[in-house]
Amino acid sequence: MSFPVFSIAEQRSSVPVRIDEEKCIADKGCTVCVDVCPLDVLAIDLSKGKAYMAFDECWYCMPCEKDCPTGAVQVDIPYLLR
Ligand code: SF4
Ligand code: SF4
Repeated sequence: MSFPVFSIAEQRSSVPVRIDEEKCIADKGCTVCVDVCPLDVLAIDLSKGKAYMAFDECWYCMPCEKDCPTGAVQVDIPYLLR
């Protein structure tokens, strides 16, 4: 019996979680995505007042995308995990 060998990292051209800075209202005090992420992947860039992906680790559990009040978060689930 053999197991498929693949690397998610090699399939990906950019970070999996993207923040639309036009929509993000972190500069108005929102920290929802940072608060809901179980891995503390997301953070607020205080100089810009926008959320961003601070660490390239993600479980694709999705609350950040679902709970963002402005729909600024988009999680790109790798094709192999869909
Ligand atoms: S939840 Fe949405 S609006 Fe709030 S900080 Fe995160 S990306 Fe920005
Ligand atoms: S999908 Fe889950 S692990 Fe990935 S950034 Fe969002 S809340 Fe964090």
